[in-house]
Amino acid sequence: MKLDIKNLTLAQLQAEFRKIELPAFRARQVFRWLWLKGVHDWKKMSDISKVLRTQFDEHYRIGQLKIKKRKGSASQGAVKHIFELEDGNSIESVWLKDGPRRTVCVSTQVGCSLGCTFCRTAQMGFKRNLLAGEIAGQVLAVSKGQAERITNVVFMGMGEPFLNYDSTLDAARILNTDLGAKIGARKITISTVGITEGIRRLAQEPEQFKLAVSLNAADQKTRERLMPIARRYPLTELMQAVRDYTVVTNKRVTFEYVLIRGVNDRRKDANNLILLLQGVPCKINLIPFNPFPETEFEASKDADIARFSKWIMPHLPAVMVRKSLGANILAGCGQLAIGNEAKA
Ligand code: SAH
Repeated sequence: MKLDIKNLTLAQLQAEFRKIELPAFRARQVFRWLWLKGVHDWKKMSDISKVLRTQFDEHYRIGQLKIKKRKGSASQGAVKHIFELEDGNSIESVWLKDGPRRTVCVSTQVGCSLGCTFCRTAQMGFKRNLLAGEIAGQVLAVSKGQAERITNVVFMGMGEPFLNYDSTLDAARILNTDLGAKIGARKITISTVGITEGIRRLAQEPEQFKLAVSLNAADQKTRERLMPIARRYPLTELMQAVRDYTVVTNKRVTFEYVLIRGVNDRRKDANNLILLLQGVPCKINLIPFNPFPETEFEASKDADIARFSKWIMPHLPAVMVRKSLGANILAGCGQLAIGNEAKA
C-alpha cells in the first residue's frame, strides 16, 4: 500500500521528499494543498508539474475522511459530524460556537478503552487508534462546511489522546503549521484522563500546546468509581505529574470536573477539591453531567452547580461553569458514541 501523506507533519513530509531527492519547498507546496486548500487530488495541485504529480501519485496516496452525517446547526451553536473512515469504522467530531471561539472537538481513537462509568463513549469499547491524518483531517473536513475560520481545537472527543500519543502530537503539529490550518499552539488543548507518562512527555514538547486533565473527583475512592483507570494512576501520582508540568512549562493546567448529582457535588467534595488544588496554577471547568441512555447517574441541578462553584470560587483560581453545548443532539461532553445512535 502506498504511503498516506496525510499522516505526515511538514517536517516528516520534508524528510520523506528528501528520500526521493526533492527540495524542501516541494513539501511546503504539497502541505499547503493538503491542509490549507483541502485538496485530495494530485491533478488539482496546479503549481506542480504533471511529471512530478505523476511521480507523487506513484509513491503516495492522500487519505480522506467521509462525512456520513451532520446533526445540529451553526445557529444552535453545535454541529455534530459523523465520519466514516477508510476501514469502515466511524468517529465523531463536534463544531462548537462559544463567544468569539469556533472550536472543533476531535476524536483520537475509535471508541475508548478506559471504561469511565459516566461516559457514553466507554460503552462502545475500544476499536483502534486514529492516525494523525485522521485526527487532523476532522478539523479540515469540519471547517470546509463552515463559513468562519476555526480558532480552537480540543482533543476531547472519543478516546484518550495520551494512549495514542504520537499520532495526537503529530496531528496537533499539522494543525499548528502556518501553511495549513494555522491554529495557534495555545489554542490547541489536549485533554487526558490522567495518564502521567503523557503529561510528563507533553511537558518536554517545544510547542505551547495546552493541557487539560479530567479530574472529576478529588478523592481517590470516588475517582475510582467514576474512572477505573484511576487505580493505575492514583491522585497523588497524578497531582505530582501535574505540579511538575506546571513548573517545567510555567503554564497553568485546566481541570475538568463533571458534576454528578450526589456523587461529587456535595460540600465535602468541594472541600476535597479545594485541598487537592491548593497552590496548583490552574483553571477549573465545571461541566454539567450530560445524561445519555442507560446511565445510572443524574446531572446536578442548576442550583447545585451554582452552589458548588460558590463553595470553591473563593479558594481556587479561575472557576468556570462550562455551558453544555450540543447536549440536545448527543454531541455534548461524554455523549459521543457510534453504534447505539438508534437507542438515543
Ligand atoms: N479521555 C480524555 C479525552 C476525552 S475528553 C479525557 O478524559 O480527558 C471528554 C470529557 O468529557 C472529559 O473531561 C470527561 O470528564 C467529560 N465527560 C465524559 N462523560 C461525560 C458526561 N456524560 N457528561 C459530561 N461530561 C462528560
